[in-house]
Amino acid sequence: MPLIILSPLLLLLLAQIAFPDLALFSLLPFPQTGYIALASIGLLSLLMRQTEWFYWLALLATYLWLTQNTAATSELPLLPLLCALLMLLLALIPKPSPLKPSGLALLLAGPLLLMLGQYLPLAAALQRADLPAVVLQAPVSGSSLTWLHGWCFSILAGLWLIAINLKPRKAAYWGEFAIFLALVLDLALPASTALANWPLVAACLAILLALAFQMLHLAYIDELTQLPQRRALMAHLNRLGRNSAVCMLDVDHFKKFNDTYGHDVGDQVLKLLGSILGKVKGLTAYRYGGEEFTLVFGHNKKALLEEKLEEVRLAVAEYPLVIRNDNRPKDSSSGKKARGSSGAEKTVNVTISLGCCVKQKGETPMQLLKRADEALYAAKKAGRNTFVLKI
Ligand code: GH3
Ligand code: MG
Ligand code: MG
Repeated sequence: MPLIILSPLLLLLLAQIAFPDLALFSLLPFPQTGYIALASIGLLSLLMRQTEWFYWLALLATYLWLTQNTAATSELPLLPLLCALLMLLLALIPKPSPLKPSGLALLLAGPLLLMLGQYLPLAAALQRADLPAVVLQAPVSGSSLTWLHGWCFSILAGLWLIAINLKPRKAAYWGEFAIFLALVLDLALPASTALANWPLVAACLAILLALAFQMLHLAYIDELTQLPQRRALMAHLNRLGRNSAVCMLDVDHFKKFNDTYGHDVGDQVLKLLGSILGKVKGLTAYRYGGEEFTLVFGHNKKALLEEKLEEVRLAVAEYPLVIRNDNRPKDSSSGKKARGSSGAEKTVNVTISLGCCVKQKGETPMQLLKRADEALYAAKKAGRNTFVLKI
């Protein structure tokens, strides 16, 4: 909803930044437009409770202010480089909420460092030595992209790629990478051209895209199992092809398991189950809700389905779950590593029952799920730890 309200405004602002000479946009002169765009994205981030973007917005606003206020007096060639280095540093620091004192300090540290960066002895020495004019602005075959620009760009982009690969790959990191690239590309752009506003436009779009991806992730991915959840399943079932099959899967005697080992251990089992199901090839796994999962197959071949259902059943039944007081396995690979290690551990197994049916002509998603549920009920009645396939 907030995105719908703000989108036209943001598009107008971004278009004005990109095409400042158009008469249509002459009402709001750049850089005010830039600040308004950044403030709008800040408001959007706040409404979506994604306040980590405040770091980037504060940095972009400072960058905008510095470039606008120093353009007339000095060239400040080191500014984009300092900005990029600072961003690299900030990307590596886990960001607490800006509403906490430590988060606020980190939020203010970026722009402050950026401003102080201009007064670094190195920057002053380089400017005194007139190096920027000699090295940074020296045209190479008609363009202002110098060897120094090229090297800075490659090294910083490489460093960033290493940095984001040290962390789990989330949409937000790629958004940050896009902002970083946009500003580092600023190194390669000739000063005072129509292109000068593009880094800010690209950065704003990167934040908007990352925000949209984050929202999609929140809406479609189940937090505990990291599998797509019911909303995503229904979307998939609505566009299901004619030759397909659906399987409902339920953990056996899970109530008893929770009573014996505790609800938190039960949660770890569901997490592990999500990790196991997510890795099985040839099907898409969803968390339907509670301890029930749904598998969707893109074919209706009986032999292949039987083979796959048995593979899934065995993968779960034979997986040794290590129960410990702390540091329980986070995913199947760490669970395997933990297997056999000493300490107050206990290895248990859980089993699952599966009910699968092949899609029939003209069947609605709800009818298909109901039939799969009936097949699951039959599997439970047949003694559990088994599958029932209805063709
Ligand atoms: P059955 O073999 O017939 O399936 O027996 P069951 O005990 O598993 O019965 P049922 O499927 O009805 O049990 C659902 C139980 O799953 C109830 C609840 O304790 C547990 N459960 C559902 N969602 C969660 C969850 O998110 N975390 C944990 N730890 N337990 C859950
Ligand atoms: Mg159940
Ligand atoms: Mg159950």
